Amino acid sequence: MDTAIRESLNDTIRGPVTAPGEPGYDEARAIYNAMIDKCPDAIVQCVDAGDVMTAVRFGARNGLDIAVRGGGHSGAGLCLTDGGMTIDLSAMRGVRVDPVAGTAQVAGGAQLGDLDHAAHAFGLATPSGINSTTGVGGLTLGGGHGHLTRTYGLTVDNLLSADVVLADGSFVTADENREADLFWALRGGGGNYGVVTSFTYRLHPVDNVGVGITVWPVERTPEVLRWYRDFLPQATEDLNGFFAILVVPPGPPFPEELHGRKVCGVVWCWAGEPEQIDKELAGVSDAGQPAFHFTTPMPYPQLQTMFDALLPSGLQWYWRGAFFDRITDKAIEEHARYGDAIPTGLSTMHLYPVDGAAHRVGPDDTAWSYRDALWSGVFAGIDPDPANAGAIKDWCVGYSEALQPESMGGAYVNFMMDEGQERVRSTYRHHFDRLSRIKRAYDPDNLFHANQNIEPA
Ligand code: FAD
Repeated sequence: MDTAIRESLNDTIRGPVTAPGEPGYDEARAIYNAMIDKCPDAIVQCVDAGDVMTAVRFGARNGLDIAVRGGGHSGAGLCLTDGGMTIDLSAMRGVRVDPVAGTAQVAGGAQLGDLDHAAHAFGLATPSGINSTTGVGGLTLGGGHGHLTRTYGLTVDNLLSADVVLADGSFVTADENREADLFWALRGGGGNYGVVTSFTYRLHPVDNVGVGITVWPVERTPEVLRWYRDFLPQATEDLNGFFAILVVPPGPPFPEELHGRKVCGVVWCWAGEPEQIDKELAGVSDAGQPAFHFTTPMPYPQLQTMFDALLPSGLQWYWRGAFFDRITDKAIEEHARYGDAIPTGLSTMHLYPVDGAAHRVGPDDTAWSYRDALWSGVFAGIDPDPANAGAIKDWCVGYSEALQPESMGGAYVNFMMDEGQERVRSTYRHHFDRLSRIKRAYDPDNLFHANQNIEPA
Protein backbone atom coordinates (compact mmCIF):
# COMPACT_ATOMS: atom_id res chain seq x y z
CA MET A 1 0.00 0.00 0.00
CA ASP A 2 1.18 3.48 -0.90
CA THR A 3 2.92 5.10 2.10
CA ALA A 4 0.90 8.31 1.89
CA ILE A 5 -2.36 6.35 1.88
CA ARG A 6 -1.12 4.29 4.79
CA GLU A 7 -0.13 7.34 6.84
CA SER A 8 -3.40 9.02 6.19
CA LEU A 9 -5.20 5.92 7.47
CA ASN A 10 -3.13 5.99 10.65
CA ASP A 11 -4.00 9.64 11.19
CA THR A 12 -7.74 9.20 10.85
CA ILE A 13 -8.57 5.82 12.37
CA ARG A 14 -8.67 5.49 16.16
CA GLY A 15 -8.18 1.70 16.28
CA PRO A 16 -4.97 -0.05 15.22
CA VAL A 17 -4.10 -0.40 11.53
CA THR A 18 -1.69 -3.18 10.56
CA ALA A 19 0.05 -4.06 7.29
CA PRO A 20 2.19 -7.03 6.15
CA GLY A 21 5.36 -7.43 8.18
CA GLU A 22 4.10 -5.34 11.09
CA PRO A 23 3.56 -6.58 14.65
CA GLY A 24 0.07 -8.02 15.11
CA TYR A 25 -0.58 -8.43 11.38
CA ASP A 26 -0.52 -12.23 11.25
CA GLU A 27 -2.79 -12.47 14.31
CA ALA A 28 -5.17 -9.97 12.72
CA ARG A 29 -5.41 -11.87 9.42
CA ALA A 30 -5.90 -15.28 11.04
CA ILE A 31 -9.51 -16.41 10.78
CA TYR A 32 -11.50 -19.40 11.99
CA ASN A 33 -10.96 -21.54 8.87
CA ALA A 34 -7.22 -22.28 8.63
CA MET A 35 -7.69 -23.36 5.00
CA ILE A 36 -7.90 -19.65 4.15
CA ASP A 37 -4.62 -17.77 3.80
CA LYS A 38 -5.23 -14.24 2.54
CA CYS A 39 -3.01 -11.17 2.96
CA PRO A 40 -4.74 -7.77 2.92
CA ASP A 41 -2.55 -4.71 2.38
CA ALA A 42 -4.13 -3.18 5.48
CA ILE A 43 -6.32 -4.42 8.29
CA VAL A 44 -8.23 -1.60 9.94
CA GLN A 45 -9.38 -2.62 13.42
CA CYS A 46 -12.26 -0.23 13.98
CA VAL A 47 -13.35 0.72 17.48
CA ASP A 48 -16.56 2.59 16.67
CA ALA A 49 -18.95 3.60 13.89
CA GLY A 50 -16.80 6.68 13.28
CA ASP A 51 -13.84 4.49 12.39
CA VAL A 52 -16.04 2.41 10.09
CA MET A 53 -17.34 5.50 8.25
CA THR A 54 -13.79 6.78 7.81
CA ALA A 55 -12.52 3.41 6.61
CA VAL A 56 -15.36 2.96 4.09
CA ARG A 57 -14.89 6.47 2.66
CA PHE A 58 -11.18 5.94 2.53
CA GLY A 59 -11.46 2.60 0.74
CA ALA A 60 -13.96 3.94 -1.80
CA ARG A 61 -11.91 7.06 -2.52
CA ASN A 62 -8.72 5.11 -3.08
CA GLY A 63 -10.31 2.30 -5.09
CA LEU A 64 -9.34 -0.36 -2.55
CA ASP A 65 -10.74 -3.86 -2.62
CA ILE A 66 -12.75 -4.03 0.64
CA ALA A 67 -13.83 -6.87 2.91
CA VAL A 68 -15.66 -6.63 6.23
CA ARG A 69 -14.85 -8.91 9.12
CA GLY A 70 -17.34 -9.69 11.89
CA GLY A 71 -16.66 -12.91 13.79
CA GLY A 72 -14.38 -14.33 11.07
CA HIS A 73 -16.35 -17.63 10.78
CA SER A 74 -17.12 -17.53 7.08
CA GLY A 75 -16.04 -20.90 5.61
CA ALA A 76 -15.08 -19.24 2.33
CA GLY A 77 -12.98 -16.58 4.09
CA LEU A 78 -15.18 -13.77 2.79
CA CYS A 79 -14.11 -11.50 5.62
CA LEU A 80 -10.60 -11.01 4.20
CA THR A 81 -9.18 -9.56 1.01
CA ASP A 82 -5.98 -10.53 -0.74
CA GLY A 83 -4.45 -7.08 -1.09
CA GLY A 84 -6.85 -4.19 -0.44
CA MET A 85 -8.31 -3.38 2.96
CA THR A 86 -10.12 -5.45 5.56
CA ILE A 87 -12.46 -3.49 7.82
CA ASP A 88 -12.24 -5.52 11.00
CA LEU A 89 -15.05 -5.11 13.54
CA SER A 90 -13.78 -7.72 15.98
CA ALA A 91 -12.96 -5.10 18.64
CA MET A 92 -16.57 -3.85 18.57
CA ARG A 93 -18.29 -6.39 20.85
CA GLY A 94 -20.37 -4.39 23.32
CA VAL A 95 -23.92 -5.48 24.24
CA ARG A 96 -26.53 -3.38 26.01
CA VAL A 97 -29.64 -5.16 27.23
CA ASP A 98 -32.80 -3.19 27.92
CA PRO A 99 -34.71 -5.56 30.20
CA VAL A 100 -37.81 -3.37 30.25
CA ALA A 101 -38.14 -3.18 26.48
CA GLY A 102 -36.87 -6.76 26.14
CA THR A 103 -34.24 -5.82 23.57
CA ALA A 104 -30.47 -6.01 23.14
CA GLN A 105 -28.31 -3.64 21.18
CA VAL A 106 -25.25 -5.52 19.97
CA ALA A 107 -22.13 -4.11 18.29
CA GLY A 108 -21.42 -5.39 14.78
CA GLY A 109 -18.30 -7.39 15.66
CA ALA A 110 -19.75 -9.20 18.69
CA GLN A 111 -19.81 -12.96 18.96
CA LEU A 112 -22.93 -14.95 19.80
CA GLY A 113 -21.51 -15.65 23.26
CA ASP A 114 -21.37 -11.92 24.02
CA LEU A 115 -25.08 -11.61 23.36
CA ASP A 116 -26.01 -14.87 25.13
CA HIS A 117 -24.03 -13.91 28.22
CA ALA A 118 -25.38 -10.38 28.52
CA ALA A 119 -29.00 -11.41 27.92
CA HIS A 120 -28.88 -14.46 30.21
CA ALA A 121 -28.26 -12.24 33.23
CA PHE A 122 -31.86 -11.05 32.68
CA GLY A 123 -33.25 -14.52 31.89
CA LEU A 124 -33.52 -13.54 28.23
CA ALA A 125 -32.18 -14.74 24.87
CA THR A 126 -32.74 -14.52 21.14
CA PRO A 127 -32.30 -17.32 18.60
CA SER A 128 -28.89 -17.55 16.91
CA GLY A 129 -26.39 -20.28 15.99
CA ILE A 130 -24.98 -23.25 17.91
CA ASN A 131 -21.39 -22.07 18.54
CA SER A 132 -20.75 -19.11 20.80
CA THR A 133 -17.68 -17.95 18.85
CA THR A 134 -19.60 -17.26 15.62
CA GLY A 135 -20.05 -13.57 14.78
CA VAL A 136 -23.49 -11.99 15.13
CA GLY A 137 -22.66 -9.97 11.98
CA GLY A 138 -22.38 -12.64 9.31
CA LEU A 139 -24.83 -14.98 11.04
CA THR A 140 -27.60 -12.41 11.31
CA LEU A 141 -27.20 -10.95 7.83
CA GLY A 142 -27.47 -14.43 6.32
CA GLY A 143 -30.56 -15.38 8.39
CA GLY A 144 -29.38 -17.22 11.49
CA HIS A 145 -30.76 -20.53 12.72
CA GLY A 146 -30.02 -22.57 15.82
CA HIS A 147 -31.37 -24.19 18.98
CA LEU A 148 -34.33 -21.80 19.37
CA THR A 149 -35.48 -21.42 15.76
CA ARG A 150 -38.63 -23.54 15.96
CA THR A 151 -39.64 -21.64 19.09
CA TYR A 152 -38.75 -18.03 18.24
CA GLY A 153 -37.83 -17.97 14.54
CA LEU A 154 -34.66 -17.08 12.69
CA THR A 155 -32.26 -14.48 14.04
CA VAL A 156 -33.50 -12.05 11.36
CA ASP A 157 -37.07 -12.56 12.56
CA ASN A 158 -35.94 -10.99 15.82
CA LEU A 159 -33.97 -8.13 14.32
CA LEU A 160 -35.65 -4.83 15.16
CA SER A 161 -33.18 -2.40 13.66
CA ALA A 162 -29.64 -2.03 12.35
CA ASP A 163 -27.17 0.85 12.23
CA VAL A 164 -25.48 0.72 8.85
CA VAL A 165 -22.53 2.49 7.23
CA LEU A 166 -23.36 2.65 3.53
CA ALA A 167 -20.99 2.52 0.54
CA ASP A 168 -20.72 6.33 0.43
CA GLY A 169 -19.62 6.40 4.06
CA SER A 170 -22.93 7.78 5.34
CA PHE A 171 -24.68 6.32 8.40
CA VAL A 172 -28.33 5.26 8.57
CA THR A 173 -30.56 3.36 10.94
CA ALA A 174 -32.77 0.84 9.16
CA ASP A 175 -35.96 -0.64 10.61
CA GLU A 176 -39.54 -1.38 9.50
CA ASN A 177 -40.21 2.36 9.03
CA ARG A 178 -36.85 3.89 8.13
CA GLU A 179 -34.92 2.65 5.06
CA ALA A 180 -37.49 -0.14 4.88
CA ASP A 181 -36.09 -1.67 1.67
CA LEU A 182 -32.63 -1.78 3.15
CA PHE A 183 -34.00 -3.36 6.34
CA TRP A 184 -35.76 -6.00 4.25
CA ALA A 185 -32.53 -6.77 2.34
CA LEU A 186 -30.39 -6.96 5.50
CA ARG A 187 -32.58 -9.79 6.79
CA GLY A 188 -31.02 -12.54 4.68
CA GLY A 189 -29.12 -10.65 1.96
CA GLY A 190 -25.71 -11.09 3.62
CA GLY A 191 -23.07 -8.38 3.85
CA ASN A 192 -24.02 -6.87 0.47
CA TYR A 193 -25.57 -3.61 1.66
CA GLY A 194 -23.16 -1.95 4.05
CA VAL A 195 -21.31 -2.40 7.31
CA VAL A 196 -23.66 -2.99 10.22
CA THR A 197 -22.14 -1.36 13.27
CA SER A 198 -24.99 -2.29 15.62
CA PHE A 199 -27.93 -4.73 15.64
CA THR A 200 -30.99 -4.41 17.90
CA TYR A 201 -32.77 -7.69 18.67
CA ARG A 202 -36.00 -8.66 20.38
CA LEU A 203 -35.33 -10.92 23.39
CA HIS A 204 -37.47 -13.72 24.80
CA PRO A 205 -37.78 -15.27 28.25
CA VAL A 206 -35.25 -18.13 28.00
CA ASP A 207 -33.31 -19.12 31.08
CA ASN A 208 -32.58 -22.80 31.70
CA VAL A 209 -33.50 -25.08 28.82
CA GLY A 210 -33.89 -28.85 28.59
CA VAL A 211 -30.94 -30.26 26.62
CA GLY A 212 -30.72 -33.76 25.20
CA ILE A 213 -28.38 -35.84 23.07
CA THR A 214 -29.51 -39.13 21.54
CA VAL A 215 -27.26 -41.25 19.32
CA TRP A 216 -27.59 -44.52 17.43
CA PRO A 217 -24.92 -46.51 15.54
CA VAL A 218 -24.43 -45.02 12.07
CA GLU A 219 -25.73 -48.25 10.45
CA ARG A 220 -29.14 -47.32 11.87
CA THR A 221 -29.24 -44.00 9.95
CA PRO A 222 -32.09 -45.10 7.62
CA GLU A 223 -34.61 -45.99 10.34
CA VAL A 224 -33.60 -43.09 12.63
CA LEU A 225 -33.86 -40.52 9.86
CA ARG A 226 -37.24 -41.92 8.78
CA TRP A 227 -38.47 -41.55 12.34
CA TYR A 228 -36.96 -38.05 12.74
CA ARG A 229 -38.46 -36.68 9.49
CA ASP A 230 -41.94 -37.63 10.73
CA PHE A 231 -41.48 -36.81 14.41
CA LEU A 232 -39.98 -33.33 14.50
CA PRO A 233 -42.18 -31.33 12.09
CA GLN A 234 -45.30 -32.30 14.04
CA ALA A 235 -43.71 -31.77 17.50
CA THR A 236 -44.58 -28.68 19.55
CA GLU A 237 -42.57 -25.59 18.60
CA ASP A 238 -40.80 -25.54 21.97
CA LEU A 239 -38.93 -28.63 20.85
CA ASN A 240 -35.86 -28.06 18.71
CA GLY A 241 -33.58 -30.84 17.56
CA PHE A 242 -30.99 -30.95 14.81
CA PHE A 243 -30.08 -34.26 13.22
CA ALA A 244 -26.38 -35.06 12.88
CA ILE A 245 -24.04 -37.71 11.56
CA LEU A 246 -20.75 -37.58 13.44
CA VAL A 247 -17.91 -39.42 15.13
CA VAL A 248 -18.40 -39.51 18.91
CA PRO A 249 -15.86 -37.16 20.53
CA PRO A 250 -13.57 -38.64 23.19
CA GLY A 251 -15.07 -37.07 26.29
CA PRO A 252 -18.12 -36.62 28.49
CA PRO A 253 -21.04 -36.98 28.41
CA PHE A 254 -20.37 -39.92 26.08
CA PRO A 255 -19.39 -43.29 27.61
CA GLU A 256 -15.89 -44.50 26.68
CA GLU A 257 -17.11 -47.42 24.61
CA LEU A 258 -18.68 -44.96 22.16
CA HIS A 259 -15.64 -42.72 21.74
CA GLY A 260 -14.50 -42.66 18.11
CA ARG A 261 -17.60 -44.54 16.88
CA LYS A 262 -19.58 -43.25 13.90
CA VAL A 263 -23.13 -42.43 14.93
CA CYS A 264 -26.22 -40.61 13.85
CA GLY A 265 -28.25 -38.67 16.37
CA VAL A 266 -30.13 -35.60 17.47
CA VAL A 267 -29.11 -32.68 19.70
CA TRP A 268 -32.28 -31.50 21.46
CA CYS A 269 -33.18 -28.17 22.98
CA TRP A 270 -36.51 -27.99 24.81
CA ALA A 271 -37.48 -24.36 25.44
CA GLY A 272 -40.40 -25.18 27.78
CA GLU A 273 -40.06 -26.18 31.46
CA PRO A 274 -36.60 -27.87 31.40
CA GLU A 275 -37.69 -30.87 33.49
CA GLN A 276 -40.39 -31.67 30.91
CA ILE A 277 -37.86 -32.69 28.27
CA ASP A 278 -38.12 -36.39 29.12
CA LYS A 279 -41.85 -36.34 28.57
CA GLU A 280 -41.39 -34.63 25.20
CA LEU A 281 -38.79 -37.18 24.14
CA ALA A 282 -40.70 -40.24 25.31
CA GLY A 283 -41.09 -41.32 21.68
CA VAL A 284 -37.37 -41.38 20.92
CA SER A 285 -37.08 -45.14 21.32
CA ASP A 286 -39.62 -45.55 18.47
CA ALA A 287 -36.54 -45.03 16.28
CA GLY A 288 -34.94 -48.10 17.90
CA GLN A 289 -32.94 -48.46 21.09
CA PRO A 290 -30.37 -45.61 21.20
CA ALA A 291 -26.71 -46.33 21.96
CA PHE A 292 -26.81 -43.30 24.26
CA HIS A 293 -29.55 -40.99 25.47
CA PHE A 294 -28.92 -38.16 27.86
CA THR A 295 -31.03 -35.22 29.04
CA THR A 296 -30.38 -32.44 31.52
CA PRO A 297 -31.55 -28.94 32.40
CA MET A 298 -28.89 -26.41 31.49
CA PRO A 299 -28.48 -22.61 31.37
CA TYR A 300 -28.98 -21.59 27.76
CA PRO A 301 -25.48 -20.05 27.33
CA GLN A 302 -23.98 -23.36 28.48
CA LEU A 303 -25.75 -25.14 25.63
CA GLN A 304 -24.50 -22.46 23.26
CA THR A 305 -20.88 -23.11 24.28
CA MET A 306 -21.17 -26.91 24.41
CA PHE A 307 -19.37 -27.51 21.08
CA ASP A 308 -16.84 -24.63 21.30
CA ALA A 309 -13.96 -26.69 22.72
CA LEU A 310 -14.47 -29.38 20.11
CA LEU A 311 -14.21 -26.84 17.30
CA PRO A 312 -11.50 -24.31 18.16
CA SER A 313 -10.29 -21.74 15.67
CA GLY A 314 -7.52 -22.92 13.31
CA LEU A 315 -8.99 -26.15 11.88
CA GLN A 316 -9.32 -26.90 8.16
CA TRP A 317 -12.95 -26.50 7.01
CA TYR A 318 -14.74 -27.15 3.76
CA TRP A 319 -18.52 -27.00 3.75
CA ARG A 320 -21.55 -26.90 1.51
CA GLY A 321 -25.23 -26.40 2.25
CA ALA A 322 -28.68 -27.34 0.92
CA PHE A 323 -32.32 -26.69 1.83
CA PHE A 324 -34.82 -29.55 2.13
CA ASP A 325 -38.62 -29.49 2.24
CA ARG A 326 -38.70 -33.28 2.76
CA ILE A 327 -36.27 -36.07 3.46
CA THR A 328 -36.77 -38.56 0.65
CA ASP A 329 -35.92 -42.25 0.81
CA LYS A 330 -33.26 -41.61 -1.81
CA ALA A 331 -31.76 -38.86 0.39
CA ILE A 332 -31.75 -41.28 3.32
CA GLU A 333 -29.79 -43.81 1.24
CA GLU A 334 -27.16 -41.16 0.49
CA HIS A 335 -26.98 -40.04 4.13
CA ALA A 336 -26.33 -43.65 5.11
CA ARG A 337 -23.65 -44.05 2.41
CA TYR A 338 -21.76 -40.82 3.13
CA GLY A 339 -22.30 -41.09 6.88
CA ASP A 340 -20.50 -44.39 6.86
CA ALA A 341 -17.66 -42.79 4.88
CA ILE A 342 -17.00 -39.80 7.20
CA PRO A 343 -13.35 -38.99 6.45
CA THR A 344 -12.17 -37.53 9.78
CA GLY A 345 -13.16 -37.43 13.44
CA LEU A 346 -14.59 -33.90 13.31
CA SER A 347 -16.35 -33.99 9.93
CA THR A 348 -20.11 -33.96 10.23
CA MET A 349 -23.48 -33.41 8.59
CA HIS A 350 -26.27 -31.46 10.30
CA LEU A 351 -29.91 -30.90 9.38
CA TYR A 352 -31.16 -27.79 11.21
CA PRO A 353 -34.95 -27.43 11.44
CA VAL A 354 -36.16 -24.10 10.04
CA ASP A 355 -39.89 -24.59 10.54
CA GLY A 356 -42.09 -23.73 13.55
CA ALA A 357 -41.97 -20.01 14.34
CA ALA A 358 -39.77 -19.40 11.27
CA HIS A 359 -42.72 -20.57 9.14
CA ARG A 360 -45.06 -18.02 10.68
CA VAL A 361 -43.19 -15.17 8.98
CA GLY A 362 -44.45 -14.48 5.46
CA PRO A 363 -42.35 -15.75 2.54
CA ASP A 364 -41.71 -12.19 1.28
CA ASP A 365 -41.49 -10.38 4.64
CA THR A 366 -37.68 -10.71 4.73
CA ALA A 367 -34.98 -11.49 2.17
CA TRP A 368 -34.63 -15.05 3.60
CA SER A 369 -35.86 -16.97 0.59
CA TYR A 370 -36.67 -20.45 1.91
CA ARG A 371 -39.64 -20.06 4.30
CA ASP A 372 -41.00 -23.28 2.81
CA ALA A 373 -37.91 -25.31 3.78
CA LEU A 374 -38.11 -27.70 6.71
CA TRP A 375 -34.35 -28.17 7.08
CA SER A 376 -31.16 -26.29 6.31
CA GLY A 377 -28.43 -28.87 5.82
CA VAL A 378 -24.67 -28.51 6.09
CA PHE A 379 -22.05 -31.00 4.97
CA ALA A 380 -18.86 -30.03 6.80
CA GLY A 381 -15.44 -31.58 6.25
CA ILE A 382 -13.28 -30.62 9.25
CA ASP A 383 -9.80 -31.64 10.40
CA PRO A 384 -6.76 -30.11 12.12
CA ASP A 385 -4.30 -31.50 9.54
CA PRO A 386 -3.84 -29.57 6.26
CA ALA A 387 -2.76 -32.87 4.69
CA ASN A 388 -6.40 -33.98 4.95
CA ALA A 389 -7.75 -30.88 3.17
CA GLY A 390 -8.32 -32.81 -0.09
CA ALA A 391 -10.09 -35.71 1.63
CA ILE A 392 -12.50 -33.51 3.58
CA LYS A 393 -13.29 -31.42 0.52
CA ASP A 394 -13.95 -34.48 -1.66
CA TRP A 395 -16.29 -36.01 0.90
CA CYS A 396 -18.17 -32.75 1.38
CA VAL A 397 -18.56 -32.05 -2.34
CA GLY A 398 -19.53 -35.67 -3.13
CA TYR A 399 -22.09 -35.74 -0.31
CA SER A 400 -23.67 -32.40 -1.22
CA GLU A 401 -23.85 -33.29 -4.93
CA ALA A 402 -25.45 -36.63 -4.14
CA LEU A 403 -28.13 -34.80 -2.11
CA GLN A 404 -28.61 -31.99 -4.62
CA PRO A 405 -31.41 -33.71 -6.61
CA GLU A 406 -33.26 -34.38 -3.34
CA SER A 407 -32.95 -30.73 -2.21
CA MET A 408 -34.86 -27.53 -3.00
CA GLY A 409 -32.05 -26.11 -5.15
CA GLY A 410 -30.32 -23.37 -3.18
CA ALA A 411 -28.31 -23.35 0.01
CA TYR A 412 -28.16 -21.22 3.15
CA VAL A 413 -25.91 -18.31 2.21
CA ASN A 414 -23.87 -18.85 5.38
CA PHE A 415 -23.04 -22.43 4.39
CA MET A 416 -21.66 -21.66 0.94
CA MET A 417 -18.12 -21.64 -0.37
CA ASP A 418 -17.18 -19.83 -3.58
CA GLU A 419 -19.75 -21.61 -5.76
CA GLY A 420 -20.48 -19.05 -8.49
CA GLN A 421 -23.30 -16.68 -9.41
CA GLU A 422 -25.80 -19.35 -10.44
CA ARG A 423 -25.68 -20.80 -6.96
CA VAL A 424 -26.14 -17.35 -5.40
CA ARG A 425 -29.20 -16.86 -7.62
CA SER A 426 -30.67 -20.22 -6.56
CA THR A 427 -30.08 -19.24 -2.98
CA TYR A 428 -32.03 -15.99 -3.32
CA ARG A 429 -34.62 -17.51 -5.67
CA HIS A 430 -37.63 -15.21 -6.25
CA HIS A 431 -35.99 -12.50 -4.08
CA PHE A 432 -32.89 -12.12 -6.23
CA ASP A 433 -34.21 -9.37 -8.52
CA ARG A 434 -35.49 -7.23 -5.66
CA LEU A 435 -32.21 -7.69 -3.79
CA SER A 436 -30.30 -6.69 -6.89
CA ARG A 437 -32.41 -3.51 -7.29
CA ILE A 438 -31.85 -2.58 -3.64
CA LYS A 439 -28.14 -3.22 -4.15
CA ARG A 440 -28.18 -0.72 -7.03
CA ALA A 441 -29.82 1.88 -4.79
CA TYR A 442 -27.44 1.43 -1.86
CA ASP A 443 -24.18 0.18 -3.40
CA PRO A 444 -24.23 0.88 -7.16
CA ASP A 445 -20.46 0.31 -7.56
CA ASN A 446 -20.53 -2.98 -5.64
CA LEU A 447 -18.02 -1.73 -3.06
CA PHE A 448 -19.20 -4.50 -0.73
CA HIS A 449 -18.51 -7.52 -2.90
CA ALA A 450 -16.57 -9.79 -0.54
CA ASN A 451 -19.67 -11.82 0.25
CA GLN A 452 -22.06 -14.14 -1.61
CA ASN A 453 -22.36 -11.31 -4.03
CA ILE A 454 -25.59 -9.81 -5.34
CA GLU A 455 -24.54 -7.61 -8.23
CA PRO A 456 -26.35 -4.27 -8.62
CA ALA A 457 -29.21 -4.51 -11.14
P1 FAD B 1 -17.27 -13.29 8.94
O1 FAD B 1 -16.38 -14.25 8.23
O2 FAD B 1 -16.64 -12.24 9.74
O3 FAD B 1 -18.28 -12.64 7.93
C1 FAD B 1 -19.06 -13.39 7.04
C2 FAD B 1 -19.70 -12.47 6.01
O4 FAD B 1 -20.53 -11.54 6.67
C3 FAD B 1 -18.70 -11.65 5.23
O5 FAD B 1 -19.19 -11.47 3.93
C4 FAD B 1 -18.65 -10.35 5.98
O6 FAD B 1 -18.27 -9.29 5.18
C5 FAD B 1 -20.08 -10.21 6.46
N1 FAD B 1 -20.19 -9.47 7.73
C6 FAD B 1 -19.86 -9.91 8.96
N2 FAD B 1 -20.17 -8.99 9.89
C7 FAD B 1 -20.69 -7.94 9.22
C8 FAD B 1 -21.21 -6.68 9.62
N3 FAD B 1 -21.25 -6.33 10.91
N4 FAD B 1 -21.66 -5.84 8.66
C9 FAD B 1 -21.64 -6.20 7.36
N5 FAD B 1 -21.17 -7.38 6.92
C10 FAD B 1 -20.70 -8.24 7.84
N6 FAD B 1 -24.89 -20.35 11.02
C11 FAD B 1 -26.14 -20.46 11.52
O7 FAD B 1 -27.07 -19.79 11.05
N7 FAD B 1 -26.41 -21.30 12.54
C12 FAD B 1 -25.45 -22.04 13.15
O8 FAD B 1 -25.73 -22.78 14.09
C13 FAD B 1 -24.12 -21.93 12.67
N8 FAD B 1 -23.11 -22.62 13.26
C14 FAD B 1 -21.84 -22.40 12.86
C15 FAD B 1 -20.81 -23.03 13.56
C16 FAD B 1 -19.49 -22.84 13.19
C17 FAD B 1 -18.39 -23.51 13.96
C18 FAD B 1 -19.20 -22.02 12.07
C19 FAD B 1 -17.78 -21.85 11.62
C20 FAD B 1 -20.22 -21.39 11.38
C21 FAD B 1 -21.56 -21.58 11.76
N9 FAD B 1 -22.61 -20.96 11.09
C22 FAD B 1 -23.88 -21.06 11.58
C23 FAD B 1 -22.36 -20.21 9.85
C24 FAD B 1 -22.19 -18.74 10.17
O9 FAD B 1 -23.46 -18.14 10.24
C25 FAD B 1 -21.38 -18.09 9.05
O10 FAD B 1 -20.09 -18.65 9.02
C26 FAD B 1 -21.33 -16.56 9.21
O11 FAD B 1 -20.86 -16.01 8.02
C27 FAD B 1 -20.43 -16.17 10.36
O12 FAD B 1 -20.44 -14.79 10.56
P2 FAD B 1 -19.12 -14.04 11.08
O13 FAD B 1 -19.46 -12.65 11.32
O14 FAD B 1 -18.50 -14.86 12.15
O15 FAD B 1 -18.21 -14.24 9.80
